[in-house]
Amino acid sequence: MTSIQKRIQNTREIINTAAEQCGRPGAVNLLAVSKTKPTDMIREAWQAGQRDFGENYVQEGVEKTQALQNLEGIVWHFIGPLQSNKTRQVAENFHWIHSVDRTKIARRLSDQRPDHLPPLNICLQVNIDNQPTKSGFLPEEVSRAVSEIMQLPHITLRGLMAIPAPSDDPEQQRKPFRAMKELLGRLKTEYPQLNLDTLSMGMSGDMIAAIEEGSTIVRIGTALFGARDYSNQTSK
Ligand SMILES: *Cc1c(COP(=O)(O)O)cnc(C)c1O
Repeated sequence: MTSIQKRIQNTREIINTAAEQCGRPGAVNLLAVSKTKPTDMIREAWQAGQRDFGENYVQEGVEKTQALQNLEGIVWHFIGPLQSNKTRQVAENFHWIHSVDRTKIARRLSDQRPDHLPPLNICLQVNIDNQPTKSGFLPEEVSRAVSEIMQLPHITLRGLMAIPAPSDDPEQQRKPFRAMKELLGRLKTEYPQLNLDTLSMGMSGDMIAAIEEGSTIVRIGTALFGARDYSNQTSK
């Protein structure tokens, strides 16, 4: 087995054990964050059964989706910041986007989603711990955004995503995740007609805390592919 295959297996075990321990067996999906990593690594992960991959940069992500079109069943998630002049590329090449942080972005994605593709799955990014430099809706803005975004025809609103400030302390890690879970719960009550089934939260350093607090998708880069080296990156 290659080291990537081993790391995928180990990470899946950690995820499954944590999910079982909190009474949600099988409820947490592993999103492999492949930003800055070569397509060979993605192919290797796919051979190990991994299907969901996350990319942060539009041009790099689009190049990879096109180069790896022959990998059956692969599902591409855009998880990085998105400017409005690049929404079309995401609408045309990805299955999901987790980082919708403005209503305008959602509207453009819906307008630009090609007719022959199923609706684009989206999550709203929430600035759950009110970090001054972080993008995302503030918690109190989310309900209103949902009421507008749910009208859009070519997207399916699946839930919420957050990137809380990093912490080494599991108790600190849990707080923003718990607040996300509560926010999603309120939205489900307010909008019972929507199928809000997704909480995208947890990275290599805090995935267990996120799962314990209700995550359904953990976004894992370093633990699968090793540390990122930005020095030979050509495109952002
Ligand atoms: C890079 C990135 C990740 C993965 O982070 P790791 O700590 O390497 O697991 C997850 N989510 C987002 C939005 C990212 O940009």
